[in-house]
Amino acid sequence: MTTDNTATTGADEPSTPFRFFDARVLRVRRLSPSLTRVTFGGPGLDGFRSGGNDQSFSLFLPPPGRAVPDVPGRDGDGWFHAWRAQDPADRAIMRSYTIRAQRAGAGGHPEVDVDFALHGDVGPASRWAANSAPDDRVLLLGPAVEDNKSVGFRPPPDTDWVLLAADETAIPAVGGILDRLPPDLPALLWLEVPHEDDRHALPPLPAHAHAHWSTHGGDPARRGGLTRAVADAELPDGRGYAWLAGEAGGVRALRRHLVHERGLDRRRITFSGYWRLGASEEQLRQEALGG
Ligand SMILES: Cc1cc2nc3c(=O)[nH]c(=O)nc-3n(C[C@H](O)[C@H](O)[C@H](O)COP(=O)(O)OP(=O)(O)OC[C@H]3O[C@@H](n4cnc5c(N)ncnc54)[C@H](O)[C@@H]3O)c2cc1C
Repeated sequence: MTTDNTATTGADEPSTPFRFFDARVLRVRRLSPSLTRVTFGGPGLDGFRSGGNDQSFSLFLPPPGRAVPDVPGRDGDGWFHAWRAQDPADRAIMRSYTIRAQRAGAGGHPEVDVDFALHGDVGPASRWAANSAPDDRVLLLGPAVEDNKSVGFRPPPDTDWVLLAADETAIPAVGGILDRLPPDLPALLWLEVPHEDDRHALPPLPAHAHAHWSTHGGDPARRGGLTRAVADAELPDGRGYAWLAGEAGGVRALRRHLVHERGLDRRRITFSGYWRLGASEEQLRQEALGG
């Protein structure tokens, strides 16, 4: 989640590395049974600059009954407090997502792809994505500079191999990481998705990447197989770097395994609980703020 508009000092840099961008849905395309790609664009995205890899941002959706999301004080530093102070019924819905890809679109305006894991009607973002259509309006709080702190994948320069472990919500980030991975760097992937055909949400793997896929069929009781699968595997010699993202409990268990049973230096692990079973993003934010 990006909540600040910290100033940078570079002479040619915009003064705020993160800011709000208005965007419209340009296209929607189903990638696989559980993932749908929404492409956003329009002149409001001018100046948006994804840093690639697992670049994340905050997506703001209109509250029920509204067509356009708004965030009071969006151009200043106080927006977060103003947004939180709003009546929840009138407040734009904020959720964290990943920029799967950015390119120049019609008229030279940026276009970005965001891949949504569809987990049913229980979450407003999943519901919105399942019903989204061209011209729908959203707000993105995202990067205006490529080198920004919402890119987490940062292997140390001496890395000999990388381990990527992800559930369906982090498949877009894995795709972004693979797009930029040096072609000769060995990559071992463990990916857990609802359905066998969700593997089509990733493009063909580079030559030095090997993926182990497992499925949970959308059943919470069958999730969490990543740690077992990694525990059964032989890891290469040399200096590894691990990037882990997905359901928070599964990510925590896998990190513990890598540190305590595999002896991986904790400084060589980047991990992120993207969501937690049984808790909405609002509840997680409230918890993080000590509420
Ligand atoms: C840095 C970051 C990047 C992320 N990138 C992506 C991305 O690119 N694509 C993506 O799809 N998600 C991504 N996520 C995860 C996404 O933000 C959460 O899944 C979010 O909770 C979805 O919001 P919602 O409104 O659908 O559900 P919420 O209202 O937040 O949650 C409602 C209920 O649904 C459950 N739930 C939430 N997500 C799932 C799920 N995937 N499967 C089953 N149950 C779920 C919750 O536990 C809760 O019980 C990212 C998260 C982070 C922190």
